[in-house]
Amino acid sequence: MEGQRIVFATSNEGKMKEVRMILADLGMEILSMKEAGIEADIVEDGRTFEENACIKASAIQKLAGGIVLADDSGLEVDYLGGEPGIYSARYMGEDTSYEIKNQNIIDRLAGARGKERSARFVCAIAAALPDGQILTTRGVIEGEIGYKSAGEGGFGYDPIFYLPERGMTTAELSPEEKNRISHRGRALREMKEKLKEKLGV
Ligand code: IMP
Repeated sequence: MEGQRIVFATSNEGKMKEVRMILADLGMEILSMKEAGIEADIVEDGRTFEENACIKASAIQKLAGGIVLADDSGLEVDYLGGEPGIYSARYMGEDTSYEIKNQNIIDRLAGARGKERSARFVCAIAAALPDGQILTTRGVIEGEIGYKSAGEGGFGYDPIFYLPERGMTTAELSPEEKNRISHRGRALREMKEKLKEKLGV
């Protein structure tokens, strides 16, 4: 696959870092939309993570050609009936800081203890291929909403996503460790295998 390129449909640099690390051994150039010179505002009006990932991947594939990957991910908090879910980025408004969003979720869980604080990060990845085919994968990591924010790593809701078995949040993991166990890492590694199979390498 040397010489081929993959465009990953995101403008989130935090995600691009994780994606580049995981897909490095494909030996392909991995470009963000910006690096591919593509500007597009895709309306994510799907009802599931998978639908949104497919909408993004096929819309960008039409502009970029080649192989385009897109993800849709988010945090599901059981105590909040699965919120913010597919609205994770838009929760309390796109421009609201994660310091505020995270504190709001902690506050809304004031009455929840132990297992009632269960939550998960979910990530669906879609690959839109030049022949029109779309492949999808899903990865999940289970955890709990912490009682306070902790850690400087990662992005978004990482400082409140507590892993009881590790005694720390995903914002306290090294980038390598987070990739090894994260929803996006799991979905991406599965996608990498599907792509290898599909492209015969
Ligand atoms: P997307 O970019 O539409 O997939 O929205 C994903 C949103 O879910 C992000 O903006 C974050 O708010 C949240 N999210 C997804 N993955 C993570 C993660 O690994 N850590 C923290 N927050 C995440």
